[in-house]
Amino acid sequence: MYPTLSLYIDGRFLHGDGRKVQDIVNPATDEVIGKLPHASRADLDAALAAAERAFAGWKKSSPIERSKVLRRVAELARERAQDIGRHITLDQGKPLAESVGEVVACSEHAEWHAEECRRIYGRVIPARADGVRQLVLREPIGVCAAFTPWNFPFNQAIRKICAAVGAGCTIIVKGPEDAPSAVVALAQLFHDAGLPAGVLNVVWGVPHEVSDYLIKSPVVRKISFTGSVAVGKQLAALAGSLMKRCTMELGGHAPVIVCDDADLELAAKMLVPFKFRNAGQVCVSPTRFYVQEGAYDRFVAEFLKRTESVKVGDGLDAATKMGPLAQKRRVPAVAGFVDDALARGATVLAGGAPLPGSGNFFAPTVIADLPDDSRLMTEEPFGPVAGLVRFRSVDEVLARANRLPYGLAAYAFTTSTKNATALANGLEAGMVSINHLGLALAETPFGGIKDSGYGSEGGSETFDGYLVTKFVTQLN
Ligand code: NAD
Repeated sequence: MYPTLSLYIDGRFLHGDGRKVQDIVNPATDEVIGKLPHASRADLDAALAAAERAFAGWKKSSPIERSKVLRRVAELARERAQDIGRHITLDQGKPLAESVGEVVACSEHAEWHAEECRRIYGRVIPARADGVRQLVLREPIGVCAAFTPWNFPFNQAIRKICAAVGAGCTIIVKGPEDAPSAVVALAQLFHDAGLPAGVLNVVWGVPHEVSDYLIKSPVVRKISFTGSVAVGKQLAALAGSLMKRCTMELGGHAPVIVCDDADLELAAKMLVPFKFRNAGQVCVSPTRFYVQEGAYDRFVAEFLKRTESVKVGDGLDAATKMGPLAQKRRVPAVAGFVDDALARGATVLAGGAPLPGSGNFFAPTVIADLPDDSRLMTEEPFGPVAGLVRFRSVDEVLARANRLPYGLAAYAFTTSTKNATALANGLEAGMVSINHLGLALAETPFGGIKDSGYGSEGGSETFDGYLVTKFVTQLN
């Protein structure tokens, strides 16, 4: 049922062989389903050496050659989506349809990078003097190290790998030890698609030990991390002290602004499944719902009605709409937000507690009338909890939405063009989605501002973090 897990170094899959191993647990059943080998110091050195060696060749590969590998990865991902998805559900917990959907959507990311890498252009700048040629070249930055999270284990890793591989870089990925099957599957996909040995390497271990070792290595020139703000700041500080380039895709606390003039039924219909998708463990999950006074009661009723029909269960059950939290530790973490809200006089309208029995299940939770300084309205909950509060005017709600240091995604619902424009212009976020939920497509940039990080993944910006600019001036 569950695959054998491995390291992938210099084109070889490496298993136990005396290495330290970690149990992998199914979050829906608490059963141990696999053993993950950790990389030894010698394995990390081997991965660094392989990535450095492979860079000498891969940086000279033609964009057409890179494009071919990425296209083949896309084809293979589609073919294997059912199996890979099933394994993601087993180790991460999300419903099977979401897991399979993640893999299928990611084949588009591979295709997009296959197309865009053929358009990594430089430019010619007209010279002041006769006989001088001025060229701007864009070259691969070198060996990259990526640290990817457990909430979208396939998506978050493939974006970084495709960007590195498409740009002509090599990469070492430390995937999420909590939900590792997706990254092992990715190594197999790239291997089978013909990627030369050493261009992609996958390692596992104690996260801070691996990241510290790789970032400090002089071989590594660029770091990409997706995860919490706290860890992102630590990694960026270390990378900064060594003058290494970073892409940081960190947490968010997305406001949703529902105006009086919005189509409330449509808004609730879109927002409820989106809120509870992946049990709310999504960096762009809608979390702070600001609803204008005139629409508040009707929107809350509509939201509650739909929340009550979210079926919670094992992700392998076809009827399940929301699976367990991915790790045991997340259950008390999410409950802490509810406790704080109750202590501050808020009302729990739905859920509010873990579900009994095995697995890390938490009820879909809706909390109303919270103070703005409650934890739920201030810190990222990363769980199936929605906080609903009232607002009066657009100016007021913009100030409240923007008051946090986060700046990843923001959503708004209104039928007024004036409101829509004011919100699109006024919201401090890397991504703003109005009257629908249109983020994270291969062809659109994905990334945050403020404490939510810097750098974009996807869109035509996708290679910017993996290229350096070289200016050449030549007198003939
Ligand atoms: P965490 O901060 O301990 O870990 C987050 C991720 O970073 C995990 O994948 C972990 O393995 C990795 N990590 C932790 N320390 C690391 C280090 N020193 N070097 C390299 N990688 C490291 O939090 P958690 O309990 O696993 O997850 C909950 C929090 O993580 C949430 O509050 C959320 O903010 C954040 N998160 C964000 C995303 C995202 O998509 N932006 C994804 C997953 C988790």
